[in-house]
Amino acid sequence: MKVLVIGPGAREHALVSALSRDPQVEAVIAAPGNPGIDLLCDTRPLDQTDPAAAVGLAQELDADLVVVGPEAPLVAGVADALREASFPVFGPGQEAATLEGSKTYAKEVMDASGVPTAQAVTATTSAEAAQALDRFGAPHVVKADGLAAGKGVVVTDDRAAALSHAESCLAVADRVVIEDYLDGPEVSLFVVCDGTTAVPLSPAQDFKRIGDGDTGPNTGGMGAYSPLPWAPEGMVDDIVARVAQPVVDEMARRGSPFVGLLYCGLALTSHGTRVIEFNVRFGDPETQSVLARLRTPLAGLLLAAAQGTLAQHPPLEWDERTAITVVLAAQDYPGAPRTGDPIAGLEEALALDGVDVLHAGTALGEQGEFVTSGGRVLSVVGLGDGIAAARARAYDAADLIEWEGVQKRTDIALLAEQGAITVPAASTGA
Ligand code: AMP
Repeated sequence: MKVLVIGPGAREHALVSALSRDPQVEAVIAAPGNPGIDLLCDTRPLDQTDPAAAVGLAQELDADLVVVGPEAPLVAGVADALREASFPVFGPGQEAATLEGSKTYAKEVMDASGVPTAQAVTATTSAEAAQALDRFGAPHVVKADGLAAGKGVVVTDDRAAALSHAESCLAVADRVVIEDYLDGPEVSLFVVCDGTTAVPLSPAQDFKRIGDGDTGPNTGGMGAYSPLPWAPEGMVDDIVARVAQPVVDEMARRGSPFVGLLYCGLALTSHGTRVIEFNVRFGDPETQSVLARLRTPLAGLLLAAAQGTLAQHPPLEWDERTAITVVLAAQDYPGAPRTGDPIAGLEEALALDGVDVLHAGTALGEQGEFVTSGGRVLSVVGLGDGIAAARARAYDAADLIEWEGVQKRTDIALLAEQGAITVPAASTGA
């Protein structure tokens, strides 16, 4: 099987790496890829939001499967164009991708399918936003309605800061979403869907804020781990039954079947499981942890989803070890990052047992050395027996890698290691 992977980040690096381990796969080609992916497979230049260019490349390569990594090409209709050209595609069409592209659309689908989520108000003026903030009270949750690379959400006790974020969202769009605050541990569950059937992967947790102790602004994600030793029994089945399957059924009913990865971001609250958000693709950085543990051949699974045969797919198999991902980011991220700094210690980190380093914001310098070229630069993944061992691996490796101004959180999976995550009694169920 020849697989084309579209996207440039650490998620795509993890996808390429897992697809290459599938014995059915004869070649993986990534477009545009990045310098780290380049070490694993062929890469091709591609404007990933250009549907015609994606079809042209799939035709030239005679791809047997196309996997679309990021949200931007999905929202741009790349999966539709590839499907029209008869390629098996893992990734939803434009309409189904609106589940991520518009928070308001996602709320409508959840309402229609009875999926539990936070109460929300869509405000179109500053006065309406202020009224909604007062209705829900602190902590305040304010969300930009469109795609914002994980950075459009502000959660704060400071009403003035909440209102100011709402106003800046309204300055660039005609609406902003104000939500009730969901209290309780967060879970990311990836669900592979073929339009009808929903197959969950192993659950993960990610760390959105830039600073230790969940301080500072939200980012695209600073780390993740999987599995979750504290997850209540039956949690995954419960989420599939109450969240993923109803959404898959509702999208089919609307004539926009969901084929691809439905990422359910959830909070386990004292009132039951609530959806925080949907994404329509593998999440970054959870993918780096989840795929490091997947033993089932990935290309076969994604092809079954693309071809509508998931119901016949054998049960998934997992490495029992824990995988922890620590993201290394450039100075000033999530603001405008400093770039162009040479990266030291990569080979030393990769030489450690049970460690992988996946590239995101890297480029090649004049002497062919890796330099920083974006906000989130590298994902360091450590595999170990249990959280303590996996953390030790990930951080031993992450601490070897350096450049001017490198930022990383030191507390990825720390509360889980300490057994300090409390799940409210009524957390599963609606
Ligand atoms: P989102 O982009 O919707 O995933 O939001 C980013 C992050 O903001 C989430 O991972 C949560 O940590 C936080 N968040 C979003 N919505 C809520 C909410 N209603 N209550 C509490 N935290 C939230």
